[in-house]
Amino acid sequence: LLQVWSPLSFLGWFYRELRQSLVDLEDMLRLLKTDNSVVDGSHALPTAAASVADGSAPARRGATRQQASQGLAVHLQNVTYGYPGTTRNVLKGVSLSAAPGESIAIVGPSGSGKSTILRLLVRLFDAGSGAVFVNGVDVRELRKKDLRGAVGVIPQDTVLFNDTLRHNVAYSRPSATFEELEKAAKAAKLDAVVARLSKGWESLACDRIYVLRDGIVAEQGSHPQLLAKGGLYREMWRLQEAEQAVDSICSHDAEDA
Ligand code: ATP
Repeated sequence: LLQVWSPLSFLGWFYRELRQSLVDLEDMLRLLKTDNSVVDGSHALPTAAASVADGSAPARRGATRQQASQGLAVHLQNVTYGYPGTTRNVLKGVSLSAAPGESIAIVGPSGSGKSTILRLLVRLFDAGSGAVFVNGVDVRELRKKDLRGAVGVIPQDTVLFNDTLRHNVAYSRPSATFEELEKAAKAAKLDAVVARLSKGWESLACDRIYVLRDGIVAEQGSHPQLLAKGGLYREMWRLQEAEQAVDSICSHDAEDA
């Protein structure tokens, strides 16, 4: 339940996080290798700008990787999906959007459908009904290698969305110098992301949070809005804080012993 809420800390718990990241990445690579029944599309990934100008435009050939890295527009439109060989829909009419340069977080209890959304985004599977659009184009029309080259994975044991990027990266060592922060960001390949953000290190690393429960978007909004709403997000947050308090007491006890 709480995986997505554990703090990201490059400086203090770097090894633990790195190891977890590799586990997540291995899972993803394994899934990519088991590929696949979906038929590849033929269009190159268009630039985000082209799709913003005309969301229905056919994919423009020849977008470079650099152009793609300027940000993706992602839109899930009423997506429903059930895994092959099962009768249960694990996503039930999910709609969400991220404009180029915007960051969204998808959070929710284990099994609520977060990874399934990612799998549909990179076309490990195709939506049963509804559609996934990247830069305005239905992913079924796009070349899988373009999609997969443009989508990165942030491991689940991270929080980048309720505080500034600076505070997230320096979480376990608030006294870290700016040079240390920059070095850690470079090691984690976060430096290019920081450079793209208009507020740089002071950016609030997400714009909108989608809270999934049992395959539906149960809540959405900013961190303060969701806390004020008093629903699932707030409950998860409360549990997270309680867990951190227990961790902190235990680590002090261990130091005193
Ligand atoms: P977690 O936080 O534990 O990673 P999640 O929110 O990412 O969970 P998903 O992995 O998307 O959840 O799973 C959503 C639902 O789909 C779960 O009930 C899961 O058991 C089911 N599921 C996932 N993968 C498969 C599969 N390959 N075949 C059948 N059911 C699956």
